[in-house]
Amino acid sequence: MNKENCSITGEIQLTQSNYYTHETDKAYMSVSLFKDFLKCEACALAKLNDEWQPEEDKTALLVGNYIHSYFESEESHKKFIEANQSSMFSTRGKSKGHLKAPYKIADEMIASLSEEKLFKSFYEPGEKEVIVTGEIGGYPWKGKIDSLSKVQGFFCDLKTTRDIRQKIWNEDTRQKENFIQAYGYYYQMAVYIELIKQTFDVDCQPFIFAVSKQTPPDKVLIDFNTEKSQELLEESMNNIIEKQPHIWNVIKGSEKPKRCEQCEYCRATKHILKLTHADEV
Ligand SMILES: [Zn+2]
Repeated sequence: MNKENCSITGEIQLTQSNYYTHETDKAYMSVSLFKDFLKCEACALAKLNDEWQPEEDKTALLVGNYIHSYFESEESHKKFIEANQSSMFSTRGKSKGHLKAPYKIADEMIASLSEEKLFKSFYEPGEKEVIVTGEIGGYPWKGKIDSLSKVQGFFCDLKTTRDIRQKIWNEDTRQKENFIQAYGYYYQMAVYIELIKQTFDVDCQPFIFAVSKQTPPDKVLIDFNTEKSQELLEESMNNIIEKQPHIWNVIKGSEKPKRCEQCEYCRATKHILKLTHADEV
């Protein structure tokens, strides 16, 4: 790491309680932050600097965390429920005091995974929520592994998604992609392989357990053992190395963030500065 980059890191020790804070986000790049900057630099920076908060529905995130905490430990699940009671339980009408619908579905998803032999042997025994750090292209990175089995040489990530088989349109490549590519999970796996290697000096193979929010839930165990998947992992890592210097400069304030002019942040802060041709809308 060169001197200039050191001034960004501030050498903060990562813990379970500061991992998701903006303070450590400014000291370490992470996959979620990188993906945020790919989507819209102006929006990502405003969020990072606590200048703006999206009006997003937090339910999907909470449901994901609810399921993760269940498989982490009984204690984590209990803590999660205590901390999020107000958003989880209905407070009005006939259903007052009952779990809201998305959490009932989450319970079905949990039950559906729990009965799987492969889930029991792959996901459950691993060490949970393992923080890993390292350097990629000379910059500091952090990651958190859902379930890590160092001795056996693999790690698993748990993903909840609307529909595992759905294809999502990518405006840049003008192609439909599966959820792994569309949500940047190749980036995540490529970075985790590297950070696990740097933190523990072991080579670990990535797996994703995906479970859908359908009734009944769909479920798959995904590996990356094809030439195409290996190529996409490599491509993702190259993309990170190419794009991150600019992102770090934007975070430091030495380069200007680009606006996408389409996201919630850009719409909220937009002014009409030029004409748009009718056939180009
Ligand atoms: Zn934007």
